[in-house]
Parts: sequence; structure tokens; C-alpha cells
Amino acid sequence: MKTTTNKGHLICLGIESTAHTFGAAVVSSKKEILSDVRDMYTSETGIIPVEAARHHEKLQRQMIQEAIQKSGQKKIDLVAFSQSPGLPPCLKVGMLAAKEIAKELNVPIIGVNHIVAHLISGHLFTQAKNPVYVFCSGANTQIIALEGGYFRIFGETLDSGLGNSLDKFGRGIGLGFPAGPKIEALAEKGKFIELPYVVKGMDLSFAGIVTSAVDKFKKGAKEEDLCFSMQETLFSMLTEVTERALAHTGKKEAVLIGGVAANKRLCAMLDVMCKQRGAKFFQVPLKYCGDQGVMIAYQGILEHLAGKQDSINKIDINPYQRVDEIKVFW
Ligand code: AMP
Ligand code: MG
Repeated sequence: MKTTTNKGHLICLGIESTAHTFGAAVVSSKKEILSDVRDMYTSETGIIPVEAARHHEKLQRQMIQEAIQKSGQKKIDLVAFSQSPGLPPCLKVGMLAAKEIAKELNVPIIGVNHIVAHLISGHLFTQAKNPVYVFCSGANTQIIALEGGYFRIFGETLDSGLGNSLDKFGRGIGLGFPAGPKIEALAEKGKFIELPYVVKGMDLSFAGIVTSAVDKFKKGAKEEDLCFSMQETLFSMLTEVTERALAHTGKKEAVLIGGVAANKRLCAMLDVMCKQRGAKFFQVPLKYCGDQGVMIAYQGILEHLAGKQDSINKIDINPYQRVDEIKVFW
């Protein structure tokens, strides 16, 4: 089994399977996206891990072949996959698929951390050099910056992620899933109602605010006013912590990553805050904010070029790895 490649121009197949999305993409070391194939498991009730894994299992082979074929490349040099963190049954499908195709192509395999790949996508898709990363997906909300060779988590949610909190509020007032875009639309007509504002040190807590807002709805408050107030309150909390992370680290850039980055009000708040302190605000394009194989392939290239070698026989999934455990060596 090959463990090294020629270090010139590299073509990498990236495989993503941490949660609802299975993705396969081919990316070059010149940052060219040669193909990007994805499919998302959906359900009425939320994600059921074994069902999502079944979805990935069913589609993986044809999606990987499609990604290779669409890339137009005769030769793939490396296979990268999401090794951590994620839902164990889903991670497993991606790893086994990666092993199978790496063996078939006789190329090295490399496991990468999915959150690291999201953060580094801030460099693949924007001009940010050394930013504070504002990572807001459904399940995660973390304000992160690179310090001393590690991604330090400066602040994070103490309960659910910002996206899931918005979704939970939306469910409570009957908006359906995902509620984020509907809340944004309704908020345009709303007026401010005071809600709890919960920043604890550098950490955030959303659960009590969701309960309070749903309670106010049951007592007759208007949905548009609640949507407006939820956005103003939750996004102000996030902006406050991001500003303090910028102040503490002395960094001059912030980059917003994750599905909630679709929200124009959140982007505007972060942009105004950055401008006021002479910092620059960046946003990963929406198309790449969610889960996909592109960021996995790119992260695989960076780690491979920096010398990391994984053994195809020994490598395993690592479902609970935190981003601040990883030494940034690339
Ligand atoms: P992700 O986990 O990164 O795929 O992001 C999904 C989350 O983003 C869900 O919780 C959505 O409700 C949320 N989201 C999507 N669009 C918007 C929006 N326009 N405003 C607020 N949240 C959004
Ligand atoms: Mg993700």
C-alpha cells in the first residue's frame, strides 16, 4: 500500500459522512474544485443515526465514482475522509468507503477532523489570513482562534447550537424545520420584545431564551415580534463574544462559517462590529457553509503535504474528538 505521493501537484478525493450529508469531492492542491457531489438524508423528526448511515451506505459507491468521473482526472493521488467528530455509524460508512477506494486506487489515505476542515474552509473560500472563526452550524456554536499552534475555543454554547436553538424555537411556534430562514423572513416585520440575554463569561446559553420566547408566544406575543427579538438577542450575544475574542487575541479578521451564516442580519451585525474596531469580516459562501467533501479533500491535501501519514490498517474513526485537541502542523 502506498503511503506517500509525489509532492508536486496533488489531486485528492474527499469523503464526508459525519451526519446527515454524504459528500464526495475532488480538489487539487491549487485549490481547484474539480467535482463536488453531495446528498442529504432527510427525515420528519430529526436525524436518526442508523438511518442516516443506511442512506450513506446505499449511495457511497455511486457518489464516489461520480465525483471521480466528473473531476475529469485520470489519476487521484490521495483519499481523505472525515474521521472525527460525528455520529459513529455515519463516520464508519465514510471510513470504510475511503479505505475501499484508497485500496482500489492504490493511494494513501488520510483522516481529518471535520470541524478543522470547516475552519480551514475559511481560508479556501475567503481572503482571511489569521481570523477569529465564528462557527455556527445547527449543532455547534464556537468562537475559535489559532493560538500557539492549537485552535483555542474562546467561547461556545453551553447547551444547543445556535441553528438548533432557532429550530427549536421555530418548532415551538409552529414554523416547521428548518426554521432559520422562516424566522429571518418573519423578523423583517417584527418589533423588539425583551428576552433573557445569557452570556456567561465567554460562553453562551440559548436554551432558557428559547423556553422564554415560546412561553411568550403561548401567552399571545406575535410571532414576527418574537422572531425579530430572537434574532436580535441571540445574534447580539454571539457578536459580543466575537468582539471580545477579537479584543483578546488582537486579531483583525473574523470569518463566519456554518449554516446560520445564511442569515443576513447576523452577517450585518458582525460586519458592523468588525468595522467599528477596524477589523474585516468574511463569510464562507453559502454553498460551502454546510457539510461537503470539498473541505475534507482540501484539509487532506494540507495535512498530507505537511507530512502526515495514516496507516490504512490502523486508522479508525474518532467520534468525540474536540477541535482544541489537534496540533496545527500544516
Ligand atoms: P448546518 O448544521 O451548518 O448545516 O446549518 C443548519 C442550520 O442553519 C439549521 O439549524 C438552520 O435553521 C440554520 N439556518 C439556515 N438558514 C438560516 C437563516 N437564514 N437564518 C438562521 N438560521 C439559518
Ligand atoms: Mg458540519
